[in-house]
Amino acid sequence: MTPDTPQSDADILIVGGGLSGTMLAVQLLRLPGQRRVLIVESRSELGRGEAYSATELGHTLNGNAARMSVDPDDPDDLTCWLSDFIAAGGWPESDVQHVPVAELFPPRGIFGLYVQQRLAEARAVGAHQGSSVEHVRGEVIDLQSDASGIHLTLTDKTQLSGRFGVLATGMFAAARTPQRHPDGKTDTLNAAAVDPWDVEAMRQLDPQGRVLIIGSGLTMVDALVSLEQAGHRGPIDVFSRHGLLPHVRRQPPGWPDFLAADHGIRSPRQLVRALREQCEQANSQGIDWQSPLDTVRAHIPRLWSQATDRQRRQFIRHLRPWWESHHHRSPPLSAQLLDRLQHEGRLNVHAASLQAVGNREAGQVRISLRYRGENQPIEVSGEALINSTGIQYDWRRVDRALPKQLLARGLIQPGPLALGIAADPGGAVLDAKGQVCDRLFALGPPLRGLWWESTAVTDVALQAKALAARLVAL
Ligand SMILES: Cc1cc2nc3c(=O)[nH]c(=O)nc-3n(C[C@H](O)[C@H](O)[C@H](O)COP(=O)(O)OP(=O)(O)OC[C@H]3O[C@@H](n4cnc5c(N)ncnc54)[C@H](O)[C@@H]3O)c2cc1C
Repeated sequence: MTPDTPQSDADILIVGGGLSGTMLAVQLLRLPGQRRVLIVESRSELGRGEAYSATELGHTLNGNAARMSVDPDDPDDLTCWLSDFIAAGGWPESDVQHVPVAELFPPRGIFGLYVQQRLAEARAVGAHQGSSVEHVRGEVIDLQSDASGIHLTLTDKTQLSGRFGVLATGMFAAARTPQRHPDGKTDTLNAAAVDPWDVEAMRQLDPQGRVLIIGSGLTMVDALVSLEQAGHRGPIDVFSRHGLLPHVRRQPPGWPDFLAADHGIRSPRQLVRALREQCEQANSQGIDWQSPLDTVRAHIPRLWSQATDRQRRQFIRHLRPWWESHHHRSPPLSAQLLDRLQHEGRLNVHAASLQAVGNREAGQVRISLRYRGENQPIEVSGEALINSTGIQYDWRRVDRALPKQLLARGLIQPGPLALGIAADPGGAVLDAKGQVCDRLFALGPPLRGLWWESTAVTDVALQAKALAARLVAL
């Protein structure tokens, strides 16, 4: 679409065409009735976003196919699709995992194809009813709301209007989000850092050079895969506040849903006590601790939304690192690589927090770190620095036009604990005065503050289905 394109009216305008925006469109197309949906997405393809644009086969989902269906009514949807895809020769390397299709951890790029195919099928269904979904390529830099609807402005000045708007803008990766400090300076970490998923940039590094990685979660694991693929064989030092690594995801048997039976559990402390007891019981029966832990997942949104801000802060302060490393687990092949690198002595993990990043000198980047329990910072240098500290959930700190404009116009307000944006439980956004907006909605990662876990495939798939039903009812 060019700047000359006339104002275009839609029923629903979706900002962002990653997994959330695309799955919302799929659900809207499947519902009876006639509607025109426009998805504004700056990438060339819908359905991929950051996560599923991965081109590296080693960048896999962190759950197996049986856990990653985008259809809340059919948990086998991905397994069936993947079986056909493999049978058609689509993923010849799948046999290295030596497991049935349901237990495979597919590359995220292949998962993106699955989402795109579901969109194509839904488009065909929608076309019979006169419904359509169009991809408008561009970045939304402003949004206004009035009695007639939602009005978007794109970078090239294109204007789009619709009855309803949906923010499906995903996560703002810390690696791509320069942090602005109160003194107006922009930090040098992101300026000095290599993208954790950029295998091409890693090929330019000295294969024997020392690589420093900040952050020890799943993005770090992806970075190890990228480095290995790029031919890097030198030392790697990983630094994070607690020095905790993600556990490997095993395929544990089921376990009774103990939280469903006990709604008295509300605080993080009660949850941890109950979970510890369940894990001890599992251990005594020779069952993996991952079995009881996995039953907790479905209750997190309820527990988080019931909790007070004080309890949420307690969770973040004391339990978050533990939750991240135990719950957000590593796919087995990546975990094997991590184990091997540690075993070879090439990978060292340190509990230390980053204090400052110096300028690059003589091909080396120098950083200052404070080890856990120590007072004095020390300096470390390496050939490359990778920032895998994850996501910037505080929209006030995101240096992008749309979040800034939405805040400046008072159309949104920060969510609980400044995580994402505030909304009602059905995703209708709250404005700066706390009023529920009946035209602007959000789903997925922007609702982090509302549900805590609002990013995984299954979270997004459920929210998309519920929001589609709400929009159609309106
Ligand atoms: C690297 C990575 C790996 C992951 N792996 C897993 C996994 O294994 N299992 C799992 O369950 N979950 C995983 N997730 C989490 C989850 O599936 C994703 O975050 C999910 O993709 C969320 O989809 P989304 O559409 O909300 O966000 P995104 O995928 O981030 O998509 C948002 C889209 O919005 C667009 N956009 C943003 N602002 C604008 C604007 N102003 N104008 C136009 N377009 C805009 C962006 O270009 C982007 O394409 C992973 C996430 C990441 C980042």
